[in-house]
Amino acid sequence: MKAILVREFGGPEVLKLEDVPTPKPAAGQALVRIHAAGVNPYDTYMRAGAYAQKPKLPYTPGSDGAGVIDAVGEGVKKVKPGDRVYTAQTLSGAYAEYTLVLEEHVHSLPATIDFRQGAGIWVPYGTAYHALYHAANAHASETVLVHGASGGVGSAAVQIAHAMGLTVFGTAGTPKGLELAKREGAHQVFDHRKAGYQEEILRATGNRGVDIILEMLANVNLPHDTKLLANHGRVIVIGNRGEVTINPRELMARRASIRAFTLWGITPTEEADVHAGLIAGLENGTLRPVVGKELPLAEAARAHKEILEPGAAGKVVLIC
Ligand code: NAP
Repeated sequence: MKAILVREFGGPEVLKLEDVPTPKPAAGQALVRIHAAGVNPYDTYMRAGAYAQKPKLPYTPGSDGAGVIDAVGEGVKKVKPGDRVYTAQTLSGAYAEYTLVLEEHVHSLPATIDFRQGAGIWVPYGTAYHALYHAANAHASETVLVHGASGGVGSAAVQIAHAMGLTVFGTAGTPKGLELAKREGAHQVFDHRKAGYQEEILRATGNRGVDIILEMLANVNLPHDTKLLANHGRVIVIGNRGEVTINPRELMARRASIRAFTLWGITPTEEADVHAGLIAGLENGTLRPVVGKELPLAEAARAHKEILEPGAAGKVVLIC
């Protein structure tokens, strides 16, 4: 089969398309014929060797894929050959024509969701769902600011929060991203490249502040976020690319908090919650993964370069 291999940590150019043996599922595993693989920012940090988890070299990147079950190992009951599925973590990497997955990490893909969309479920929607339900304990009567609403996690968060009944504010850095955030359910949108946009957000709440901020770039925004919160507000740190200084007094005055997580630390109970909620939302049409860019598997290096550039518009996926 064809697969992307990383033989050394480095820039996007270390992602090489190679011919490798097709794996065989052992007991408790399924082999999935991957039709599309989701590209997530963490894939780029891992490839650079800069992520907390360092895979053993060589490795094939990718946790998020969608396709059809090709074969199952002994004892597998949840899926059978021919089933349409999405993956949430893989054993052998999703940037490939076939990938091995533990039975518990493969989930039924609703008939209305195509493979390209299915490649954008686990990390973006799982993160957005976990952030709103588990980390923020969001309530329908609250206001959420999705700080970075044009990308994979942000567009998912806008759809989920809208469906939960929250008042949703979203930010983006381009007209296309602002349009996307509005279309996917943000009640008001703000340009995070425009000077003074934070004051516009505060005014839009009648100077009360927002209850929840889902933060995609904490190292840039956290000091301002603490001033945008309402009493008992919560910032949920999802994305961060550096260090930052804040004034804790802003939190004290509001009895506010900053919470943070990585999706990898999710408990089995939370994970079951996430998939049940997401599959229901995908089936009833409230959740509709937005594919912004699709590239052939061979262009994984280009995908890794472009996902870190400004101007997000939904998910970047590789067609395998
Ligand atoms: P993405 O699709 O590349 O989107 C990046 C988003 O960040 C875009 O909406 C972009 O907006 C926005 N952004 C750029 N500059 C910003 C600024 N100054 N203020 C606010 N937002 C800004 O990435 P993603 O998949 O959504 O992931 C977002 C971040 O969360 C990444 O850093 C990723 O590593 C992290 N993440 C963490 C977890 C976790 O477990 N904690 C899980 C998934 C993702 P424009 O392009 O429109 O400017």
